[in-house]
Amino acid sequence: MRLVLLGAPGSGKGTQAQRMQVRHGVPQVSTGDLLREAVAAGTQLGRAAHIVMQAGGLVADDIMLGIIRERLARSDAARGFILDGFPRTQAQADGLAALLKSLGTPLDTVVLLEIDPEVLLRRVAGRRSCRRCGRVFHIETNPPRPGERCADGKEHDLFQRPDDNEATVRQRLAVYCERTQPLIEHYARLGLLRRIDANGTLDDVDTRLEAAIATD
Ligand code: AMP
Repeated sequence: MRLVLLGAPGSGKGTQAQRMQVRHGVPQVSTGDLLREAVAAGTQLGRAAHIVMQAGGLVADDIMLGIIRERLARSDAARGFILDGFPRTQAQADGLAALLKSLGTPLDTVVLLEIDPEVLLRRVAGRRSCRRCGRVFHIETNPPRPGERCADGKEHDLFQRPDDNEATVRQRLAVYCERTQPLIEHYARLGLLRRIDANGTLDDVDTRLEAAIATD
C-alpha cells in the first residue's frame, strides 16, 4: 500500500495514519513528526525548521524531498507507506512522483479528508500529543483511556503543539489553501484521488477511509 493522506491541518491525517499503520503493516510517514524530531534533537535542520514551523510556514521543498528520500529508503517502507503531511506543494508532488518512478513503485491512492471549518478548529484546539510515544489524542473526543500507558509502560505525557495556537493555525490554513489545495485537482486529474467525509467519530472516518482504499 502506497497511500497519501491529503487534508487541512486538523483534518485527522495523523490520527488515521497512526491507526492504519497497525492494520496494514506499513509505516506512517509524517513529515511533521520527522521535523519535530529534528527540532527536539537540535540538529541544524531542526533549528532552521523550528522557526518556519512556529510561523506556520512551509519548510523548503528541496529539504523536504531529501527527508522523504531518506525515509522511504528505510527497510520498513519497502512494503509501502502512508504519507501524512507530504506532499504539500506541487514541487513536492512532482519530486515524489519522480522518486517513486525511479523505484518502480508508484502511488496507489490519494485520499482527501474533507472537513467542516468549525470542526477543524475544535479538533486543533483540543489536540494533544504524547511527548514519550508520539500518539495523538483529543482532550474531548479521544482522550487516553483510564490507566492507558505508552508501550514502555510509562504514563502518557500530553502536551499541546506550539504551532496549534490560534494565530499559527490561521496561517497554516492560509498556506494550505494557497499551496496544498491545488494538489487535489492534480491528483484528481491523475485518477488517484478519493474523497472522504472526515467529520464524525474516529471510527466513522476509519470506516470511510478503509472503504475508499478498498475500491482500488
Ligand atoms: P504537521 O505535523 O503535518 O501539521 O506539520 C507541522 C509543520 O511542519 C507544518 O506547519 C510545516 O511548517 C512543517 N511541515 C510538515 N510537513 C511539511 C512539508 N511536506 N513541507 C513543508 N513543511 C512541512
